[in-house]
Amino acid sequence: MIPYSTQSIGEEDIAEVVRVLRSSHLTQGEEVSRFETTLAEYVGIKHAIAFNSATSALHAAYLTAGLGEGDEIITTPISFVATCNMAVALGAKPVFCDVRLDGNIDETRIEALITPRTKAIVPVDFAGKPVAMDAIKAIARRHHLLVIDDASHALGATCKGVKVGASADMSIFSFHAIKPITTGEGGAVVTDNDTFAQKLRLIRSHGVVKKQFWNADMSTLGYNYRLTEFAAALGRSQLARLDPFVARRNAIADYYDMRFSGHKLFDTIKIPEGCTSSRHLYALLLRPELHCPKEDIFAALQQKGLGVQVHYKPIYKNSFYVKQFGEQRYPVSEDFYRSELSIPCHHGMSDAEAAYVADTVLEVIDAYSYRGCSF
Ligand SMILES: *Cc1c(COP(=O)(O)O)cnc(C)c1O
Repeated sequence: MIPYSTQSIGEEDIAEVVRVLRSSHLTQGEEVSRFETTLAEYVGIKHAIAFNSATSALHAAYLTAGLGEGDEIITTPISFVATCNMAVALGAKPVFCDVRLDGNIDETRIEALITPRTKAIVPVDFAGKPVAMDAIKAIARRHHLLVIDDASHALGATCKGVKVGASADMSIFSFHAIKPITTGEGGAVVTDNDTFAQKLRLIRSHGVVKKQFWNADMSTLGYNYRLTEFAAALGRSQLARLDPFVARRNAIADYYDMRFSGHKLFDTIKIPEGCTSSRHLYALLLRPELHCPKEDIFAALQQKGLGVQVHYKPIYKNSFYVKQFGEQRYPVSEDFYRSELSIPCHHGMSDAEAAYVADTVLEVIDAYSYRGCSF
């Protein structure tokens, strides 16, 4: 099976992890801060704070934003559940904003959703394609809101030469195994704000500050969201390979774009001039004629060794969200969910595998194209 995404671990990564495993510190040494410095430099921002997952990074970012009972965030339904879950965990309400045809939040619909309880706008750079950050930031400035970008897909993506993560108030990256780079499990918040950075570091480690000798003070409620030293070493080693990873995924995506261009039964996501995607996912957007046979197409592709997946079931459709916030429907998100199919696109794939994926997609879709919807 060719997975839709997977890690690439080289000998240099293994050597780095082993070096740290043989060292004196498995946690709370120098490796985490070395990784953070490299990450902040890469993104072009003042602070990077590493966490043991993007989920804990999101939790800490929302806490840092002061999110609490009765507050609202405006966010996208087309994301992994963690984007919303960590706000809900603090008693906040996710107010969903419908998406555009590319799966990114529709910035033109945000302003109408702002209420006196709104604290932050939380977009997600779906599949690694940068959101319309300038427009989102302009809205946030007008209404004194924070922008917290869940950039879990988008490390290495850019717009007008600026890296994703460099311009929101806080941005979150994930280093889960299938994300652009990996530490096994891991994540980070990046920010230019000194106060936020300090708060994030406190929350990450029990809210405790060391004072003199044995005296330490717990000044705020914190957690243990620390990344291990060997994970951080893996992260720094992976980060050195990020640009080639992104270039390879873009080469595969460009090849798919070429093979699929002008197809009558599905579209693909276009990256605007001046921006680059990290190409974390390569999404097919099936036309309505293929919505009914989508399950069969999915099964047939899996049968032929393509580890396809659907990203994402809109968050509000999960039973927890229905129970908690009631039935909701957002037309473009609904349509996106019916259309979307992620096909294998990762930096470990060979040209032959990419060709096999493209051939197989075209062959299977052709075979099911006559079925259509029978109502
Ligand atoms: C993967 C992902 C997360 C969660 O990341 P973890 O590191 O697994 O906690 C959050 N948001 C988005 C958009 C993701 O893709």
